[in-house]
This record gives sequence, C-alpha cells and structure tokens, in this order.
Amino acid sequence: MRRYGVIYAGCGVVLAMLALCGYSLYQSREDAIARAYDSSRDVATITERDIARNFELYALSLQAVADGLARPGVLDSPRLRREILFDRAATGQYVGAMVVIDAQGNVVMDSESDVPHGANLADRQYFQVHRDNAGLGLDVSAPYDSRLRPGSRSVALSRRLSRLDGSFAGIIALGVDQEYFASLFADLRIGQHGAVSIIRTDGTIIVRRPDNRHASGVDIGDTEFFRQLRGKDEGSFVAISPLDGVERLYSFKRIPQLPLLVLVAESTADIYASWWRRALTIGSLMLIFGIGVVALSARLGAELRRRQRVERELERLAGTDGLTGLYNRRALCETLEREWLRARRTGNVLSLLFVDIDHFKAYNDTYGHQAGDAALMAVAACIRRVIQRPGDRVGRYGGEEFVVVLPETDAAGAAVVAENVRAAIDELGIVHVGCEFGHVTVSIGVTTWRPDLQTDVGVVIRAADKALYSAKAGGRNMVARAL
Ligand code: GH3
Ligand code: MG
Ligand code: MG
Repeated sequence: MRRYGVIYAGCGVVLAMLALCGYSLYQSREDAIARAYDSSRDVATITERDIARNFELYALSLQAVADGLARPGVLDSPRLRREILFDRAATGQYVGAMVVIDAQGNVVMDSESDVPHGANLADRQYFQVHRDNAGLGLDVSAPYDSRLRPGSRSVALSRRLSRLDGSFAGIIALGVDQEYFASLFADLRIGQHGAVSIIRTDGTIIVRRPDNRHASGVDIGDTEFFRQLRGKDEGSFVAISPLDGVERLYSFKRIPQLPLLVLVAESTADIYASWWRRALTIGSLMLIFGIGVVALSARLGAELRRRQRVERELERLAGTDGLTGLYNRRALCETLEREWLRARRTGNVLSLLFVDIDHFKAYNDTYGHQAGDAALMAVAACIRRVIQRPGDRVGRYGGEEFVVVLPETDAAGAAVVAENVRAAIDELGIVHVGCEFGHVTVSIGVTTWRPDLQTDVGVVIRAADKALYSAKAGGRNMVARAL
C-alpha cells in the first residue's frame, strides 16, 4: 500500500475531481431542463393571453351583432343591416367574413356583401354543434378552406342565436384566418427543433409550426400523447411527438372561455445541445487532466521508489565496512545500543566478543599492507561463517579488531561461540612467521551483561576490552572472560 501510495493518492485526487465535475455537469443539465420548462411555460402564457385578448374582441363583435339582430327593422334594410350590425364588427388583417345563419343553415346575412349568397352551411360542424348543444357558448371550429380567400384556411368563431323561448334560431360565425395564429408564432424562440401549436380541446390541430400544411386539421385526440393534455388547464411533460417522432418538452395552457389549447415545445436535443457541448469539452479536458495526473503520480511513485531503494542502499553502505563487508564501527555501535536497550527492556542477558588479530603489525611489516588487507578479509569472512544465528551481529571495530554482539546469550554460550571463532581462525592457517604459532591467530575477550538502569553500553565494551587484554597477556590465541 505504501509503495504505491502516490499512485493511489493521484487516482484519489482524479476520482474526486471527476466526481465534482460529474456532479456540476449533472446540476447544469438539471438547470438546462428547468430553464426550458420556464421559457416554454412563459411562451405558452404569452401566446395564450394574446389569443384570449383578440378573441374577446371577436366575441364582443358577435355579441353586438346578436344584440343588433333583436332591433326592429334591421333585417329588412340592407343599409341598417350594414350600419347597425357590422359597423362595430371586428376588422383587421386576419378577420374574415361574419355571417348570420338561420336555424336551417341558410346564410341570411354576410358582412362581405349586402346580398347573401344563399349558401346553406347546415353541413358545417360549427353549425351543428350549436344546433345540438344549447349551452356551448363560444366555439372555435376545426380549420377549413376559406371561401373568401382561396388557398388560405380559416377557423370559425361562432355563437348560438336563441329565440325568446330558448329554441335554436341559428348562429353567428366570424372567420379568422389561420395566419393569425401563425403570425403569433413568427418570432418565438423555441429552438431549431421546437414546435408550437394551437389545438382544439378535442384534439384537432388548428395550426402548428413547423409543418403547418400537413398538421392543420389533423386529429390527435386518440393518441397517447393527447391523453396528457385532455381535461387539464395547464401543465408540462416530456413526450415524443405523434407527428414527427421528435422528443420534446411540452408546456400547454388552455385558453379561458375557448375550446383551445396552446402547446409550446422545445426539443430535448436542443435543450441539451449546449450542455452536451460543454460536457464533452469539460469531460475530455478532465480525462486528459486525469490521465496526466495518474501518469505523473505513477512517475513520481516510481521515482520515489527508486530513491527509497538508493537511500536504503546508501544507508546499508554507510553502515558497512568497505574492506570486509561487515558492519562498520558506527553501525556496530548503533546495533549494540539497540540491543542493550532491548535487553534492558526484556531483562535478558547480552554478550559481546572483542576479537583482535595477534601481532598484526608484524604481519603487515612482513607481507605488506595488501597481504594484510587480504588476511583481514579472510578473518572477517571466517568470523561471519561461524556467527550464523539470526540476531547476532559482526562488525569491524577498527584496524584488526572485530566485535561480535550476541543478544540473549549467557556467559557459557558466549564462551562457546568465542572458542569456535578462535578455533576457526586458527584452522585457517594463514602463514605468519612473526607469530609464535606460525600462522594468523586471534585473541578474544568475552563479556556477558544483564543491562540495568545504572550501567550504560560503554561498560560492556570496556569490560570486553579488558578481557581481551588479559587474553593477550595470557599468551594470545586464546579466549578470556571478563570477571
Ligand atoms: P597485538 O598482538 O598486541 O594485537 O599486536 P598488533 O601488532 O596486532 O597490535 P597493534 O595495535 O600494535 O597493531 C595493529 C596493526 O594492525 C597496525 C596496522 O599495521 C594494522 N592494521 C590496522 N588496520 C589495518 C588495515 O586496514 N589494513 C592492514 N593491512 N593493516 C591494518
Ligand atoms: Mg589491536
Ligand atoms: Mg592486534
């Protein structure tokens, strides 16, 4: 875990950044849809108000004509008819003819001409609904091809005429060019794939942008889509259009007093388009950043591991004697200190051998310094061979002196080890004419201590040194124990 800590940390940082980035992108996606909800609702409301205001004026015109018809003599005089009936009638770019139709469907008056055409409109749906339904109020018909403006379509706004006894006396209808609705849509900002429609509450589309020609008059009353609008005054939902299969966010509003709904829709693709662009940009930047951080942390981790290896090696070298490969004096003292403290903690004994080559100055003098070094190496290797127990440490104390630390070893055990070392070097048989034994030998001082709080590690070395002195004095090539 620690070896690869840097990579794990790098990955952690990247994951945290990705999580943050993902969260903020998710939030901005939610914001996008919320904004779209708001704006489509606003557009629906504005359009609904515009239509409601205009149709209120048209309705007042119908009312004025209905009132005028009740005045005596109006029907007999074309002049009175025009002045009284149609003077206050709504006029405007999109307003067509106003007609009065009797109970049999005959056109009895027409605002466009003094002489009615004699047409019978009893088959028109807007006539029949009023005839069959006394309480309908204002009705807006499905679009039909205009008689007065060939090539354009109109809807009829109509109301019923009743006799005093309440029976059906006919209708008054005002044609409104479909272009009126289309003109409302002209400047709406609903995105490239947005749609806006006016739909009758029975599901007949009156006008739609885009694709007006095909959609006008289409009845979507039976579709699953329309079920979400039916009977409601306003609302929003996401659905796939039954007309062009595009998924959109729809907001709708019922126009009060009229059987009409305004439906405004922005395509979800448009809503999310800029979000997608941002998400892709931020996402790919984050990906590059993430890969960069992971790669950097991998490199950093590898570099750190390499340095740790080098440091360990340097540390090992710093504690190693260059000639013999044993612990050097510094490392030896550290080991001894450590073992001393451990022994004090555990209440164990600690033994120490002080090994010194006999007459080594003479050896150097006789065979040269290089041969002296070789002999030192041979003696060091020999000691290491004998000292096999884990935990025991061999170091070069200086010159031709070696120290062996034997933790948890009592005096008897230490004496055995010391004797083994002495005998092993004796058996090496490195010729040394300057020595009374004819070959290289060592003298060893042994000491065993049970560390307590009063003594420090220095006493062990001094005691071992003293024991060594007595081994030298006793004739060399021997082991002496500190008393
Ligand atoms: P004793 O039996 O009393 O120990 O006599 P000695 O000559 O061994 O003791 P002394 O302390 O007088 O001499 C130690 C010699 O060890 C001195 C030096 O020539 C030799 N020596 C110390 N370090 C090295 C070394 O690194 N390489 C070589 N070749 N000789 C060394
Ligand atoms: Mg010496
Ligand atoms: Mg010596």
